[in-house]
Amino acid sequence: MAQDAQTSVDPNAKLVIRNIGLMLSGALERPILDADTIVAVGGRITAVGHAKDVDQAGATTVVDAKGSPIAPGLIDSHVHPVAGDWTPRQSQMNWIDSTLNGGVTTMISAGEVHMPGRPKDIVGLKAMAIFAERAFTNFRPGGMKIMAGAPVIEPGMVESDFKELADAGVKLLGEVGLGGVKDGPTARTMVAWARKYGIQSTIHTGGPSIPGSGLIDSAVVLEADTDVVGHINGGHTALPDREIRCICEGCGRGLEIVHNGNERSALYTLRIAREMDQLARVILGTDGPAGSGVQPLGILRMIAMLSSIGDLPAELAFCLGTGNTARMRELDCGLIEVGRAADFVLLDRAQHSAGRDLLECVQLGDLPGIGMVIIDGLPRIGRSRNTPPADKVPEVVAA
Ligand SMILES: [Zn+2]
Repeated sequence: MAQDAQTSVDPNAKLVIRNIGLMLSGALERPILDADTIVAVGGRITAVGHAKDVDQAGATTVVDAKGSPIAPGLIDSHVHPVAGDWTPRQSQMNWIDSTLNGGVTTMISAGEVHMPGRPKDIVGLKAMAIFAERAFTNFRPGGMKIMAGAPVIEPGMVESDFKELADAGVKLLGEVGLGGVKDGPTARTMVAWARKYGIQSTIHTGGPSIPGSGLIDSAVVLEADTDVVGHINGGHTALPDREIRCICEGCGRGLEIVHNGNERSALYTLRIAREMDQLARVILGTDGPAGSGVQPLGILRMIAMLSSIGDLPAELAFCLGTGNTARMRELDCGLIEVGRAADFVLLDRAQHSAGRDLLECVQLGDLPGIGMVIIDGLPRIGRSRNTPPADKVPEVVAA
């Protein structure tokens, strides 16, 4: 609950969460688990099952869910952090902590591109990426996991630059296209170098986001072959539907839908992915902070939008913002299964929603209420300050 949330986990800390009313796994193939209790030791899930079947002895923290549903902590696949819990884009403080209050427990940088005076020379951009990776590993507002240090490629980079970045701990590329490299062949070469050294990549898809940014069309997206097709619904301006279809059908990469994009194109992408029976490729981000602002509830809003207007069962919509992203991004969270990080959001139907339970609330387009967020097995916040009030709210009953 404090800003200086602990980043190291006591290996003997044992968390028991009991009386869970509904368990959403994050996995498309089995989105709802028949279980009411989770046990985690040292910040990792050790058991998922019914109360009578799991070992609850010796718990250092017991959470009584009081019938509240639980889901894996949400993952925002597309953010633009800069420094600390501040964004210069909208001059806002504490946007990361506010996002934790939106149920997000992991966020992934698509480039620290809003840094005032961002260096674009090669040694400078490498230094900034390494700095960001270090800084956000050490600084976790409220416990939020921030995967940052995502350099934006510039002309003149050579293979050894990517090896050097990888050796220094950089695991991501920022959006291809936000720098000087905007052509397919150069992007493809550099993306392949990045991949060779274990660095994942994403690309800016669609029209310019702000003056000075550029168009990246389907031909460049397909040629660049990044691991994730960043904001396929535009950030903000989407490609024509035929080009979105062309990308969905022309590659097997991740299809990232963002809050700050075109909502109609988001629904179109969802429809194509379902027609192709490739819903596992769809992941969610906010693309915040941005011109559209900071969206503390952005991932919840995407889930409610895709579920209600997109007619996607709510338990599947949650997978797009949890398990799908974790699998694609090779994260150890995002799914409720033994061995995964004990990162959870306990949430329920909002009070006075027309929906009778969490799933119906979301399917009707209402945002759910968050009652608790847990990261690495530690309760980080109770009732969210940002969501509508949840109907059922969990409680820490022993610590
Ligand atoms: Zn972008």
